[in-house]
Amino acid sequence: MKRRKFVKNSGLGAAGIISASLVNSCAEATEKKDAPAAINALKPIVIATWDVPNATAKAWEVLDKGGSALDSVEQGVRMEEADISNQSVGKGGRPDRDGNVTLDACIMDHQGNCGSVVYLQNIVHPVSVARKVMEETPHVMLAGKGAEKFAVEKGFQKENLLTDKSKLEWEKWKETAEYKPIINIENHDTIGMLAIDQAGNLSGACTTSGMAYKIAGRVGDSPIIGAGLFVDNEVGAATATGVGEEVVRTVGSFLIVELMRQGKSPQQACEEGVRRIIEKNKGKLDFQIGFIAINKEGQVGAYCIQPGFTYRTYSSEGHTNTPSMSHIPA
Ligand code: ASP
Repeated sequence: MKRRKFVKNSGLGAAGIISASLVNSCAEATEKKDAPAAINALKPIVIATWDVPNATAKAWEVLDKGGSALDSVEQGVRMEEADISNQSVGKGGRPDRDGNVTLDACIMDHQGNCGSVVYLQNIVHPVSVARKVMEETPHVMLAGKGAEKFAVEKGFQKENLLTDKSKLEWEKWKETAEYKPIINIENHDTIGMLAIDQAGNLSGACTTSGMAYKIAGRVGDSPIIGAGLFVDNEVGAATATGVGEEVVRTVGSFLIVELMRQGKSPQQACEEGVRRIIEKNKGKLDFQIGFIAINKEGQVGAYCIQPGFTYRTYSSEGHTNTPSMSHIPA
């Protein structure tokens, strides 16, 4: 790792300076456990992977009215799940190699409650099914047909999630694609969202249709608590997008929250999370991973392998879309 460099995108040059103050804030927070909540009470904020203004606006609407972070992230990511122009989440998502749209999602609240669905078909809002798993079952995770049956029992309508556009693209992909079990690098982008509400509580949600044209049955990081999402109300929260296999084997989001617990700022923690993945891949970086994180004080961080990842925040200071700092191989 010594010879490799982390290069920061232009426009974020001040981040180093910010990081120093974040470290100090974190250290103070560790000493005075009650302080961050008090600061938070004045500063609700939502952050999401990618440029999803409708999702963050919706989430902010909930926070601004005094709603919970849990409602905020659920309502926020539902915007993308319902948007058929977003082909990586919910209805309109790209299918697996057999033409089936299969969805993964999870949600986690400030008390450490969590729910998740994997390989869910025919239901537009997996995040809301995940919330039902969390709130109305003794379990954390439901999969496949069982998850679908549960959703229907809870009143969710079944519908075909494969849009004409995604179907046509899949048919075109099949003309040239080799049907072999490799991790593909085709289009994929999970929506992960983290929020702090006016009470200073944190929650997060993560939803995806997974890697486009994946092998039927494949599940990535996004519905796995600790990998695609993790929330610890004493410390902060993190979520991931990109090649899920890499995030799973580093337990990425949990790692980032633990690094924040040890005093790292959200930015430093995301950079370290990416560094671990780079290390495991011994320099081979032909894939994308992006992490976002937030700490108890509402400070945020983001970092990715490969430029091109952006994140969106919404707070009382307004609505911004920011290109993430990225690792550029030396
Ligand atoms: N993390 C998702 C998965 O591996 C895909 C993505 O975010 O691009 O299923």
